[in-house]
Amino acid sequence: MAAVRCPACGELDGRLLHRQTAADAAHHFVPRQRDPERHADLAVHLAALWGRDFVEVRICEACNFGYAVPWVGGDARFYELVHSGDPHYPGDRWEFGHTIEVLKRPEFKRPLRLLEVGAGHGAFLDRVRRLGRHEIVAADYDAGAVDRLRKKGYEAIPGSLADISGTFDVVCLFQTVEHMADLDAVFGHFRRLLAPGGSVFVSVPNGEATALQEEITGFWDTPPNHVGRWNPIAMKRASERRGFRAVAVETEPVHAGQVAWQLAVYSVNARSYTAGTVENRINAIENRPARGVLRRVLAATQFPRLLMMRRRFRPLTCWAQLCLPAPGAAGSPRTAGCVSTTPFHDALGAEPPRGGRRSRHVAMRLSGPVLDHEGLEFEHGREKGRRLSIDENRPAHAREALTTSLVLRLSCPAAPPIEATSGAAGFEP
Ligand SMILES: [Zn+2]
Repeated sequence: MAAVRCPACGELDGRLLHRQTAADAAHHFVPRQRDPERHADLAVHLAALWGRDFVEVRICEACNFGYAVPWVGGDARFYELVHSGDPHYPGDRWEFGHTIEVLKRPEFKRPLRLLEVGAGHGAFLDRVRRLGRHEIVAADYDAGAVDRLRKKGYEAIPGSLADISGTFDVVCLFQTVEHMADLDAVFGHFRRLLAPGGSVFVSVPNGEATALQEEITGFWDTPPNHVGRWNPIAMKRASERRGFRAVAVETEPVHAGQVAWQLAVYSVNARSYTAGTVENRINAIENRPARGVLRRVLAATQFPRLLMMRRRFRPLTCWAQLCLPAPGAAGSPRTAGCVSTTPFHDALGAEPPRGGRRSRHVAMRLSGPVLDHEGLEFEHGREKGRRLSIDENRPAHAREALTTSLVLRLSCPAAPPIEATSGAAGFEP
């Protein structure tokens, strides 16, 4: 199979976490026993979507991003088969309140044009509207959601990022980006839709919580619903690599009861796969409210056992504010994709005074092993001052074809401190 690159950071060949057949994946979303026909349609559709009868989840060794291979998100038909026209939307989430707090800050104290993609039934937008004065546009794939948003008085567009025109001061995507595969296109749309000085707010499930969920409950986070498993480092790298600045990347505080309940629900889901279990029989019930009540009763019996594991709980959500650096600003990572052959030390400009220090920001794409990086200070996102060794940060097997993009601050004590073999190191002009 051809080499696969991490969609977030560009690293090669992540480790295989999980492989699932189209039939098993279909069973995950639509259990055979509940609706054999829809289950069979979904299995056929997934195999067509992937161009083969299985999918893999790989984990990047450099940034811990998890990604589906084939790297393809679910299409409209997939969601139609999974939800049978009745998707569930959350009433409230931590990131709604967190974003509202940010929007109360002085820099946002003016009438804003705000877009939410994947707005659902408008639980977040209702809170934005209470702030007053902002011009709001909503978008959602689901026709039912668009109807409901319009009834609430919002300008609502059916579709996703590609279907929206105009520019916005604030673009929000909550629990949406993890469903999307083409990250270059996603960030391209952010760039197109952002007014100068604008911000993108995104939230995604935190991959560490997903890993714990799978370990404890055996319930897999199956593509192509979620195709990306994010974490703060992957979020920084994916954005910086595409010319954005991660102004803030934060995780949801851990509330043990909330995490334990989610795990309890997932363990009921996992047990429902096995024929003969109570969970399996309940999961065959077509009446959704009845099924929901019985599932909650079963989850409640699991809850105390799972709460005991609270020391291992991880934040459920990762949230970020992303901006485009002002043109020409120090530290602006330049557009990726254009690689110069300028060696590292040329990126520092003229040799600094002996014993002096010189630093500047450059967006660099490194390729080839780095022989010596003594004397370097790296700045990556907020991890200022931390000496981030390139070697430490790469698995040994990846050093031979090292391609990544970091925002680095290089300081050179006397002479250019490093060189790269094969003249392969460079920065992006
Ligand atoms: Zn990666």
